[in-house]
Amino acid sequence: MTRNREVASVLKEIAILLEIEGKDKFRPRAYYRAVRTVGSLGEDVENLAKEDKLTDIPGVGKGISDVIKEYLSTGAVRHLEDLRKKIPVNVKELSAIPNVGPKKIKLFYEQLGITDIESLENAIKENKLVSLKGMGQRTQNQIIEGIKLVKRGWERSRYIDVLPHTRRILEIVRGISGVRRAEVAGSFRRRRETVGDLDILVDADDSRQVMDAFVGMDDVADIMAQGSTKSSIRLQDNLQVDLRVIPKESFGAGLQYFTGNIDHNVSLRSLAIKKGLRLNEYGLFRGEEKVAGEHEKGIYDALSLPWIPPELREGRGEVEAALNGSLPKLITLGDIRGDLHSHTDQSDGVHSIEQMLDAAESKRYEYYCVSDHTQSLTVAKGLDEKRLLDRIDEIDDLNASGRWELEILKGAEVDILANGNLDINDEVLDQLDIVTVSIHSRMKDSKEIMTERVCNALQNRHVHILGHPTGRLINRRHEFDIDLARVFEVARENNVAMELNAYPSRLDLNAGNLRTAIGLGLKIAINTDAHRTEELDNMIFGVYQARRGWVTKEDVLNTYPLKELRKIIKK
Ligand SMILES: [Zn+2]
Ligand SMILES: [Zn+2]
Repeated sequence: MTRNREVASVLKEIAILLEIEGKDKFRPRAYYRAVRTVGSLGEDVENLAKEDKLTDIPGVGKGISDVIKEYLSTGAVRHLEDLRKKIPVNVKELSAIPNVGPKKIKLFYEQLGITDIESLENAIKENKLVSLKGMGQRTQNQIIEGIKLVKRGWERSRYIDVLPHTRRILEIVRGISGVRRAEVAGSFRRRRETVGDLDILVDADDSRQVMDAFVGMDDVADIMAQGSTKSSIRLQDNLQVDLRVIPKESFGAGLQYFTGNIDHNVSLRSLAIKKGLRLNEYGLFRGEEKVAGEHEKGIYDALSLPWIPPELREGRGEVEAALNGSLPKLITLGDIRGDLHSHTDQSDGVHSIEQMLDAAESKRYEYYCVSDHTQSLTVAKGLDEKRLLDRIDEIDDLNASGRWELEILKGAEVDILANGNLDINDEVLDQLDIVTVSIHSRMKDSKEIMTERVCNALQNRHVHILGHPTGRLINRRHEFDIDLARVFEVARENNVAMELNAYPSRLDLNAGNLRTAIGLGLKIAINTDAHRTEELDNMIFGVYQARRGWVTKEDVLNTYPLKELRKIIKK
């Protein structure tokens, strides 16, 4: 994991504060440029600093290079500290709001003295924003929606942001002598896309030692409770973690109890009652006798159920399915044979096609589709027909070179225009193996227009996959207003697969929509949409989401051998 984004965010804060300070027009611009280049750097900024090569980065001169070095070696920047003292604006908090950029932050601060989300909310309550230059009711409403999304993010963190904490805490606890088991439970174990608080369960002889190590971790901001069986802390990045020490003979019961959501647990408890048993967090009992409890599987066994994967334990019919033997055999990462949506530096990706292919080959994929953006996405340097034809020739050569065992598929992520047409002509589309179509513009179109646009695009006979169908970004952007039922219907008529975009902020389609889609017989393509080599690793997050949507190997396009895949997508 590089620190590039962390460095870019420090530079961004300096840029915005300099802009508010207003002393110099050019310095903020220089910083913004450095934010972009550092943020999208293919190499590790720390390595460049070590080799004294920071000024090789476009847009990074001596001054900014010194700032980066100072930050990397000391964790702070003196100039930034001075700026923060002078201009007490919480830039990070405000710039996290969609549709709020440096210009608005400056305007809010200078005209209304707004320094953070709280003071912004107060100004909105008094309807003060609408009177500002260039603002109106519509913008104020957008900001209100944006604040809601940011606040939801404070309460529920994305799965990927919780993952490193989980790994670290388990490692610390498992390293303590006398600890027999430590496991994560709760919504994290169910692989939910966001996690409210993290639940850790420990089986140990000496709970005091475990609790001391837990509340004594480096990044604990607040100890909310410390006891012999349960402690709760809040980490510096706001995540709440609860740790429970559970007796060995009840560990499985505890794991079951703290994993299932309430509906799942209610179903299990009533099933137990029907069998003359009693189920709680300590075990499964017949009268006073404990029937099961040490192992989670033992509880399901004793209820004559197969073990139910945690992703399904949400009370959506999984207990009934388990009873009548119709639980789905959920997809696993090992079932994936290729990735059908990825970018390169030809559009807005960071790495070259060769670098992406090397990374894909190391995943032992059978095929890999290169699908850069198309021309109307100018911010992403999208390809026009000519560049796309060149790309097709290039891929023919790369396939012929024999350098990679995998088959390189020719693709594109084609933009859906305002009228639902595509921005690449049919003759060129005809030469591609995989055509994914996506919405990247006019995302606030009305439900009718958006549905019409997408359905129109799906009727083009060259289209194979609808990319990130609802456009949502977790904690950042709502879903489009779109009639998905209608989209699914048109997709089925035209043999178009739905994407499950595995980008950790997207996970789009979500679990509920996936289940609906496969119920209609639609195929799902689980794709990383990688813009850099490391992002090929995101496939696992797509697989988790698919499992939450009851998706099996057979439902997923890119689990099929290439020959079969080609047959399936044929019109
Ligand atoms: Zn896209
Ligand atoms: Zn993409």
